[in-house]
Amino acid sequence: MSQIDTLPPLRDVIATHELSARKSLGQNFLLDLNLTAKIARQAGDLTGCDVLEIGPGPGGLTRGLLSEGARRVLAIEKDPRCLPALNEIAQAYPDRLQVIEGDALDIDPLVHLSPPIRVAANLPYNVGTELLVRWLTPKDWPPFWDSLTLMFQREVAQRIVAQPGSKAYGRLAILAQWRAEAEIVLSLPPGAFTPPPKVSSAVVHLKALAEPRFPAKAATLSRIVAAGFGQRRKMLRASLKSVAPDIEDRMREAGIKPTDRAEQIPLEGFCALARAVDAA
Ligand code: SAM
Repeated sequence: MSQIDTLPPLRDVIATHELSARKSLGQNFLLDLNLTAKIARQAGDLTGCDVLEIGPGPGGLTRGLLSEGARRVLAIEKDPRCLPALNEIAQAYPDRLQVIEGDALDIDPLVHLSPPIRVAANLPYNVGTELLVRWLTPKDWPPFWDSLTLMFQREVAQRIVAQPGSKAYGRLAILAQWRAEAEIVLSLPPGAFTPPPKVSSAVVHLKALAEPRFPAKAATLSRIVAAGFGQRRKMLRASLKSVAPDIEDRMREAGIKPTDRAEQIPLEGFCALARAVDAA
């Protein structure tokens, strides 16, 4: 699709509705509609998909998602000042945009969405990490979403896609890569936003796998990874003591040296250890 809509430029929208950016809400807006359409394209083919957008603000990414062909967009926004601007978009795309005012951490969007569902957002970073962890740890797998396309601080994005042996490798990498394919698809300098944030940003695309990459019980894996990376400088035989009294035996069974540190263990190793702990 990829045609930009006929609504006013975002700078005018912001001036008309007096949407001065608020730091407390993490408001760094994207005003270039070519860029928001490009971000929307990173979410894949939106035709026939419902899209959940968190934090639409004045609606730059919302407009990108709609112009790129999303069947419907459900947008959850905490700042009531943004609602009139979002209503104008809803009128320009009849029956395709539903806006809910509220805190995304408190709202269950599922009642309003039909599969296939993709998630796309340029969020304040603290809320973004919390939502990402929730989306990656549902009760059942596969989750409600097919893919997540999310803007993060570059440093957080690097933690999501990190490989063993790097400083960025930790709980977030394991969580993300165990049951999803995670990739940085776009990097953005501070100047892409109004006002510019202090650091660079990156868009991460996560595609849900039908099955976990390696078998393991989610709760056991999570306990091991939290303990291992909670004391990442320690050898695993010390940091994992609380997980099981005979953890060194379980580690040997899983092919992990008790003197290794969490940072060195690939995802497959953590999953093997989780299985060994559960089998004991
Ligand atoms: N998507 C817009 C864009 O790209 O220009 C705005 C992005 S701005 C970084 C983050 C948006 O999330 C703001 O509009 C802010 O009001 C909203 N927001 C902040 N916390 C939120 C929350 N807990 N739930 C829903 N929206 C939130």
